[in-house]
Amino acid sequence: MSKADIFADDKEYVANTYARYNIALSSGNGSKLTDINGKEYIDCATGIGVNIFGINDEEWKRAVVAQIDKIQHVCNLYYSEPQAELAKALCVKTGAKKVFFANSGAEANECAIKTARKYSHDKYGEGRYEIITLKNSFHGRTIATLSATGQDAFHKNFGPFLEGFRYAEANMPSVLANYTDKTCAVMLETIQGESGVLDLDGEFLKNLEKFAKERDILLIIDEVQTGNGRTGYLYSYEAFGLHPDIVTTAKGLGGGLPIGACMLFEKCGKTLTFGDHGSTFGGNPVACAGALSIINRIDNALLLEVQGKGAYFKENLLKIKHVDNVSGMGLMIGISTNKPPREIAEKCIQKGLIVLTAHNNVRLLPPLNIKKSEIDEALKILNEVISQ
Ligand SMILES: *Cc1c(COP(=O)(O)O)cnc(C)c1O
Repeated sequence: MSKADIFADDKEYVANTYARYNIALSSGNGSKLTDINGKEYIDCATGIGVNIFGINDEEWKRAVVAQIDKIQHVCNLYYSEPQAELAKALCVKTGAKKVFFANSGAEANECAIKTARKYSHDKYGEGRYEIITLKNSFHGRTIATLSATGQDAFHKNFGPFLEGFRYAEANMPSVLANYTDKTCAVMLETIQGESGVLDLDGEFLKNLEKFAKERDILLIIDEVQTGNGRTGYLYSYEAFGLHPDIVTTAKGLGGGLPIGACMLFEKCGKTLTFGDHGSTFGGNPVACAGALSIINRIDNALLLEVQGKGAYFKENLLKIKHVDNVSGMGLMIGISTNKPPREIAEKCIQKGLIVLTAHNNVRLLPPLNIKKSEIDEALKILNEVISQ
């Protein structure tokens, strides 16, 4: 199919919910992407943090293909090795007691919301169901996770939304103002990815944790974007010394296949029981086999490498004229400039670099194994585009 045919069919037949860029990606290798015309790009988007070891990664591919050779799907009425192994790896590495597998970030968060409500219901009876989330948060596109998302822009057109969410600013006075005798959990991202890679204050996070623990309010950390080595930590809460009760993740976990995980720690490890939740596809063996290969590669050496590359990126981005601020951690980077981010992203594409935008900022989520020479190439293009 020609590029024009693809665009025409897509425009005619795919629901028009995305502002697509004018390229059709077809293949790649590592941090290099190729479009259907054969043009090459450095990939600093990884399909929104998904292709965490780049394209055509041998180790991930081997794990996935070996599993496809055996069986492609086992429903959750039966046991399957990849799911059991992945759950064990996640629990051993994080200290979680149980994992529920879903297919996306939103679904992992749905499980977290249900678990928090049930935990409270089991212990305190009816009526203690409110969850405090933060302004500028993003937790997904289902009705419940949109309700959890603290951005007015998302609360249009689809009402009525689910009740039981209160949106606090990222400071303690605002959390206190939103706390009631109905509060059962707080839910947050340590770095707010979709709203611009906004860093939360570490002292606020520690104080919030203390406040929550004293009141038996569950601490839910949404690591859908920040997780799986992205920030230079296996999960970003480690960087802040937090001890969450529930951690959700997705995006990079699957390395390119859909998977979501809701990790349940000590307090709520026994909350979900038979019949409480389920999924037909959740924990699919192919997705789990790929995810296991990814989780097993995220060791200390890799995490240090990610921290080093992130620092190198940051240091050099700050040298670019018109870059006002660089936020984020590890290889999750936000760049604020005086230009519209979409315009920067489009100019980068023309020059062979793919970046993301997030609200008012440019966002970089490159593969964790991006090479130094590729970072330099990306910096060169960003410099050309932003400093003009
Ligand atoms: C992307 C994202 C989600 C939603 O994940 P989907 O897989 O698109 O459902 C939820 N929370 C955060 C923090 C995200 O970045």
